[in-house]
Amino acid sequence: MKKPPTDNSASVHKEMRVFRRSRRSSKPAAKAPLDSLVAMAGQLAKLQGEARKLGIFVGDRELIACPTCGLMEDELVDGRLVTCHEIGGPDTGMRFAAHPRGEDKLICPECGTVLRPQWL
Ligand SMILES: [Zn+2]
Repeated sequence: MKKPPTDNSASVHKEMRVFRRSRRSSKPAAKAPLDSLVAMAGQLAKLQGEARKLGIFVGDRELIACPTCGLMEDELVDGRLVTCHEIGGPDTGMRFAAHPRGEDKLICPECGTVLRPQWL
């Protein structure tokens, strides 16, 4: 024998009807979440750019080490990117720079070797 609906189940059914109606009526506005996502991606890119200017490693690629001279990147606990010749060594103050003919390549500031890090 089927149980009669309680007040609670009637309320749930009413909410489901409202939900279904709102889903149908929101079809023309389905682009809104995508616009929101695009806006957030733009904000994230802007924040990453500002972080880079402050010397913070944003984690968009692996840390690199030059196979020619041994200069390597390290990330400090506070997120700053430094270069050194041994783990925990003093910061040389030099930074690997973007290659002028390709953003996916970096140039060692010490010896000029062109490196292609793994971008994430
Ligand atoms: Zn080098």
